[in-house]
Amino acid sequence: MLQAYSAFDGQESCLVSPRPATQEELHLFHTPEYVDVVRYLSDTRPADRHKPRFEPGVDAARYNFGPGDNPPFPGMFESESLKVGAALTGVDLLLTGQAQIVFSFAGGLHHAGPARASGFCVFNDAAIAVHQLLRAGQRVAYIDIDAHHGDGVQAAFYDTDQVLTISLHEAGITLFPGTGFMDELGQGTGYGYSVNFPFPPYTYDEVYLEAFHTLVPPLVGRFAPDVVVSQLGCDTHWRDPLTHMNLTTHAYEAVVREIKLLAPRWLALGGGGYDLTVVPRAWTLAYGVMIEREFPDELPPGLAHQPDLPAGTSLVTHYELARLRDQRAPFIAEDTRHHVRQVVTEQLAHLQQVLELPGP
Ligand SMILES: [Zn+2]
Repeated sequence: MLQAYSAFDGQESCLVSPRPATQEELHLFHTPEYVDVVRYLSDTRPADRHKPRFEPGVDAARYNFGPGDNPPFPGMFESESLKVGAALTGVDLLLTGQAQIVFSFAGGLHHAGPARASGFCVFNDAAIAVHQLLRAGQRVAYIDIDAHHGDGVQAAFYDTDQVLTISLHEAGITLFPGTGFMDELGQGTGYGYSVNFPFPPYTYDEVYLEAFHTLVPPLVGRFAPDVVVSQLGCDTHWRDPLTHMNLTTHAYEAVVREIKLLAPRWLALGGGGYDLTVVPRAWTLAYGVMIEREFPDELPPGLAHQPDLPAGTSLVTHYELARLRDQRAPFIAEDTRHHVRQVVTEQLAHLQQVLELPGP
């Protein structure tokens, strides 16, 4: 979609090919043993084709691989290392001053742990990129707007004041991974440097924006980062089949706009998004914010000619795309709206007090 909008044709932006992460870079966050296990489970060399998928020597379940969210697949090590390398390519571009903003669509794998796959995430590109920035002496604020709590990144920096992590997400009581409550604030010197805002199901644009605007700019402003790393999952959208949030592309675009204002330099990562009519539109809008281009709502004609799709179909017909931005918001009953607003208002007041932010 971005190519069809000629997003990479101007002076202000270009497409960059990623490199794979090195073993040493993977070890910035993951244990050597886990990296070896990922490589082993991914092995597709012809000589190994008849080897049992799970050899007795490797207990895949111990690393949370298996049926469900994290099935191992041939080439997994290569593809996941490339996603981490994409984020690190972005870090290089930022540190050398070749770019002010980098967007790695394939990244944002915020659930992976040091020795554990989780929630479709094998290697945690976000945590590794932050580590790499810290090694270069950068102060990093991490902002995660995925519908799911950014648990892996939070845990990586829970006890340090060198990284501020902020996650806004659907509450863990109704959604995976079941964490990210307001009392998770960090520990030791890291206290106050992990911030979570859990939203109730059916949260809609106005209250979401109010919460973001009340919390994030004051926190990030006070922290004064050199670089903002953001996870831009678009599974908060009302059409998303895995979550119960009710945002439209308008709130999504507005939040990305706010993040841009907070970021002296910006490494943006993708993330969740499970409705394919939404994902290309949301990330095209995000990219438009980054390069300050207002893409028209009318989808570009180039979308009709995509080589990867079956003959006779286009991205427009295949994914039932109509316009770039949502043209309507979902219906939400008045008492539900009222309940959501009440919960969010109370939580905001609480966090403002705990974090010593300007009052309502
Ligand atoms: Zn998600």
